[in-house]
Amino acid sequence: MDFLAGNMGWIEVVCGPMFSGKSEELIRRLRRAMIARRRVQVFKPEMDDRYSKEEIVSHSDQRLGSTTVTSADEILKKLDWRTQVIGVDEANFIGPGLVEVCNQLADSGKRVIVAGLDTDYMGRPFPPIPDLLAMAESITKTLAICMRCGNPAKQTQRLFDSADLIVVGAAGLYEARCRACFEAGAPKQDWLPFAPASINRP
Ligand code: ADP
Ligand code: ZN
Repeated sequence: MDFLAGNMGWIEVVCGPMFSGKSEELIRRLRRAMIARRRVQVFKPEMDDRYSKEEIVSHSDQRLGSTTVTSADEILKKLDWRTQVIGVDEANFIGPGLVEVCNQLADSGKRVIVAGLDTDYMGRPFPPIPDLLAMAESITKTLAICMRCGNPAKQTQRLFDSADLIVVGAAGLYEARCRACFEAGAPKQDWLPFAPASINRP
């Protein structure tokens, strides 16, 4: 997956719930591209201010310098056209324009690696990730560990009551849950013994 023959571009998508290692995987791929002496640029949406404005940061505190954008078009404006590999983190917050921009970049010979949530707090497909999956050459779905029972988790569980699609935050506001433990909206189920004692129980 790391090396392409000639100048053909393509799109890779890394998707899954929060805490599943999307940012870690994106950083790993971008670091390997840098080791291969590719020119790399990384973009993230402005609203993701969880940790840092100039870096993408994983929950395990891996970091990589990045450029902030408020729309997909801004990626094109801020792109150095010598760049060969383009990373985009938190892609589900960038908006529908990202699909066209990624296609344009891949068509012009760039390797585009996109990471983002594939479902929202209600378990619905999170645009524009589904469309990107349809366009991509490579798809990786990362799973987290369910904080209620310990099984592989594909859902992002919101721990507070709100009907807003986007409420940015990490530990304490969201947790990973499996298919069986996930509840659309605020959780009502009792805790299982697996949940670590450090988590505030209702
Ligand atoms: P994402 O970008 O998908 O939100 P990150 O790459 O930022 O994920 O973080 C992944 C890291 O989060 C893991 O390596 C682990 O250290 C930590 N982590 C915290 N909670 C969980 C969980 N429930 N399941 C798996 N990893 C978790
Ligand atoms: Zn579970």
